[in-house]
Amino acid sequence: MARRDELARNLAAVEERISRACADAGRSRDEVRLIVVTKFFPPSDVAHLLALGVRDVGESRAQEATEKFADDELIARHRRAGCGEDMFVTTHFIGQVQTNKAAAVVGWADVVHAADRPKLVAALDRAAGTAGKSVGVLVQVAFDGDEREDDADGGRAGVRPDDAEGLADAVAECPHLDLAGVMAVAPRDADPDVAFGRLAEVARGIRERHPDATWVSAGMSGDLEAAIRHGATHLRVGTAILGSRPTLR
Ligand SMILES: *Cc1c(COP(=O)(O)O)cnc(C)c1O
Repeated sequence: MARRDELARNLAAVEERISRACADAGRSRDEVRLIVVTKFFPPSDVAHLLALGVRDVGESRAQEATEKFADDELIARHRRAGCGEDMFVTTHFIGQVQTNKAAAVVGWADVVHAADRPKLVAALDRAAGTAGKSVGVLVQVAFDGDEREDDADGGRAGVRPDDAEGLADAVAECPHLDLAGVMAVAPRDADPDVAFGRLAEVARGIRERHPDATWVSAGMSGDLEAAIRHGATHLRVGTAILGSRPTLR
């Protein structure tokens, strides 16, 4: 149980940060959901987190997540056991999706956070239709100075702010997708307050046309306070709860 104790301690510390940031921002704690990002960590950690009351789990690597969730009875068991809202687990795919992986991701994910091009939106809609389910989708917005190169198709992750409304309209038109809102990762070497402030503007613009698109997925281990200041509704926190991941490359 040493690992569970460690996770419990880390969760409590993050919870403390979230509560304080909400209080500082004059927001209610209920407005913000914590998605625990479990990439690189084993199913046993997911089991501990669920036992500790975590109800939102995020993954960002398609292959790993599909293996973890498709083969793992864990979440399925929780779902079957639960009739009540408090047992309901939501699975989030927060990484870049290659178009040819859309069906695999839709196979287990309830919500896909990083829609960034019409081709992917169409693939997700097709896959959701085939799977007979409806999938929540967020439009990922990229901001200037974002030089990350982790986009699956070799491009930049996210649409430019000016293109976000167009892509949101495209998602909203898909019969098997629910437009949930927007998502962003703050650029590495920039002030997260600037990026999250701009994200809030983009989110407002989209909500004018799509009032149900209320999600703002922003904020990670290092910048969740800034995200909460700017209206984040969903935080994606990995390291601060699970510890450091192995570094790639
Ligand atoms: C890994 C990841 C996170 C979690 O980041 P931490 O800094 O470990 O909290 C959040 N968002 C995305 C898109 C990620 O890939």
